[in-house]
Amino acid sequence: MKVKGSALRSTMSFLREQYPAPTVARILAGLPEEDRKILTPPILTSAWFPADALCRLIHGMEKETPGDPQDLYLRVGMQSCEDGLNTIYKLFFKVGTPSFILKHAGQVWKNYYDEGQIVLVSSTSNTAHVRLEGAKMPDPAMCMRISGWMKRAAELSGGHSVAVDHCACVHRGAPACEWKTDWA
Ligand SMILES: [Zn+2]
Repeated sequence: MKVKGSALRSTMSFLREQYPAPTVARILAGLPEEDRKILTPPILTSAWFPADALCRLIHGMEKETPGDPQDLYLRVGMQSCEDGLNTIYKLFFKVGTPSFILKHAGQVWKNYYDEGQIVLVSSTSNTAHVRLEGAKMPDPAMCMRISGWMKRAAELSGGHSVAVDHCACVHRGAPACEWKTDWA
């Protein structure tokens, strides 16, 4: 699976904003040489890069982050959603409700990942259930990154008390990854 440079750039911004410079240097030094080349600015936002490089970067941060790693993955995903706001998705969030945004998550997916599609399983005025078909997330950290994106997307489009449940996961033996989001 490949990810768009914009996804890498967002996680690099997160790294530089959240960690002191010596920690950033240590995290980058722990990555393979080819990853460091990819992550050296300027990262071409429209180019495609191996998703594994993004996974290794997230796991590098994890080693320097106390607490539950799931929380880190979630925050990285929330940041990716916020960074998307500065692009073509600005209007999308301004006019959208959480159910509108999550129903159209498939369109956003295609702009960030080169494989698979997000399919809407069901939705109500305060819930959305989606499934990733035709692709396998390379790492459970990426699954939680998606959860973070969905949480922030629902919040930014007006949802309160947003909860995202990664209710089925290929890394836990399910045939596909699924997410259920609800909000008030
Ligand atoms: Zn999963």
